[in-house]
Amino acid sequence: MAFYLDNAATTGIRPSALEVMVPLLAEEFGNPSGAHRMARAANRVLDDARETMAVCLGAEPGEIIFTSGGTEADNLAIHGSLAAQPGIAVCSAIEHHAVLEPVEHTGGRIARVDENGLVDLDHLADCLAGSDDAPISVVSIMLANNETGVIQPLEQIERLVRQLAPGALLHTDAVQAMCWLDVAELTARADLVSVSAHKFGGPKGVGVMVARSGKNIEPLFRGGGQERGRRGGTHNVAGIAAMAVAAEETVAERSAQVPRVSGLRDRLADGIVNTVDGTIETGVSPPESIANNHAKRTNKTANICHLCFADVESEALLFLLEKDDIMASAASSCSSGAIEPSHVLTAMGFDRQLAFGSLRLSLGYGTTEADVEAALTAIPPAVQRLRERA
Ligand code: PLP
Repeated sequence: MAFYLDNAATTGIRPSALEVMVPLLAEEFGNPSGAHRMARAANRVLDDARETMAVCLGAEPGEIIFTSGGTEADNLAIHGSLAAQPGIAVCSAIEHHAVLEPVEHTGGRIARVDENGLVDLDHLADCLAGSDDAPISVVSIMLANNETGVIQPLEQIERLVRQLAPGALLHTDAVQAMCWLDVAELTARADLVSVSAHKFGGPKGVGVMVARSGKNIEPLFRGGGQERGRRGGTHNVAGIAAMAVAAEETVAERSAQVPRVSGLRDRLADGIVNTVDGTIETGVSPPESIANNHAKRTNKTANICHLCFADVESEALLFLLEKDDIMASAASSCSSGAIEPSHVLTAMGFDRQLAFGSLRLSLGYGTTEADVEAALTAIPPAVQRLRERA
């Protein structure tokens, strides 16, 4: 028995997605690059999945590149753009490490964010100054943040990029957005878009990068010419088919899930903020006026309740919560357990001590009232216990 509140780390697979995988692994397992009947059948599965993903993401089928997940798609966006047009990559300070590390590794520029986790547009404008010798090749700003759920103003960012760095490709990491935002509409003017199946009820290890036609990127992997030479490697046919089923279901139920889940999230966040002194909710402006927080959560995805507790260490808190069967995380799952505080909170100006007391409760399509009740029952006394011990 578990109260699972870590859906931003990963979600359980949707039964309909699991159902399509089994026959594709066990019986209809042809390699879509082949020529015989079973290969052609696998190729048709790929074509169908490509069309579905294109509809869900507001793209053309030819603009879909299947990848091994969000990390590969993000790396492809940065390294693929730089290889096609050598120059400078720019991203925000709160990107997932799958974007941040490639940008840092290639000597790129990092734009600051404000205390609410929004990109500082003035600083971004400064970062977009290129030259003939060192043009801006790619700008990567995520649609929704994986720790705080804060949504970036992509439309404004797009206008800035086109004006100040017209030769650059605009990439957005929409990995955390699929369940909660109209990704097709919000990313329509981005050149490159990453999503990952396991965040919306598909399997792990499969994702998509949308690369708009006419936008030139070089492949990360060369090999058998799959994905029209843009991504070599035998396709994960079962995973891709399951991703398409999960995406279709996610988009179809989004308008019902968003109000349901945001209602649960608001109850959870208000319940904790109003009973535990010294709690800061991130991405809610201004942080000190907590009376009417739900009205101010409009700039966050529906599923994320992200809090910082003064005088508490999140590792100890997570340990106590797990004893009550509550699964949560301290920062992004990739960095939980790390000794450094979250780079997202650091970029937002949180002091180290407060950043070490962060807790992310992330809801999903399967979250119920019982999960929220369990968290509301367990968290206030756990925080209290830790403070008494300290
Ligand atoms: N980008 C964001 C915003 C994420 O939250 C994650 C996963 O946590 C990734 C990229 C990486 O995706 P994947 O786990 O599919 O490699």
